[in-house]
Amino acid sequence: MFNILIASQNIKKRNELLHLLPNTYNVIMPSDIDYHDNVEETETSFEGNARLKAQALHNFALSKGLNAAIIADDSGLEVEALNGAPGVYSARYAGVHQNDNDNTQLLLLNLKGITHRKARFVSVIIYQVLQEIHVFRGEVQGTIAYQARGTNGFGYDAVFIPTGFRSTFAELTADQKNLISHRAQ
Ligand code: IMP
Repeated sequence: MFNILIASQNIKKRNELLHLLPNTYNVIMPSDIDYHDNVEETETSFEGNARLKAQALHNFALSKGLNAAIIADDSGLEVEALNGAPGVYSARYAGVHQNDNDNTQLLLLNLKGITHRKARFVSVIIYQVLQEIHVFRGEVQGTIAYQARGTNGFGYDAVFIPTGFRSTFAELTADQKNLISHRAQ
């Protein structure tokens, strides 16, 4: 079986990737090989940060003698009325020590009184085998709700209404989200 290592410390994101991959792969999580590093996201693009995560895990796997392909995702929410914010800073929008709910509440606050609520989720996925790197980009368009709704998912799911739906991502089931999400694309 072909080994694939998922380069993410975000459990919810990892689970989504796990469900998106065919079961013909042997999927290995970072904790399975004792990898606990949180790579500092110093780049200003999703691709740049995804490359950093992939390379760091690739180097670690090599040092352990593990032969595996790497999948790394860097993703975030881009809101038109906020000139693309929070973008690459989505995970730390309200500050590095804040959580998903703090980020979501800050977003709602910054959009207070704004009726133009178009947004998109973007995911850039790096697939790395040795030094061969493939880059994939997926997007899902939608709008930002006026208040948080639903408890599924993670991050900004409770305020993101994908185009063609009335529900937020957090009101959809994991299977429904996985059919249309930026990561699935
Ligand atoms: P990363 O793990 O550094 O790529 O940060 C991604 C951040 O973007 C997450 O912490 C969320 O805030 C946001 N994000 C990315 N994908 C999703 C999603 O599918 N739903 C909700 N928020 C997401």
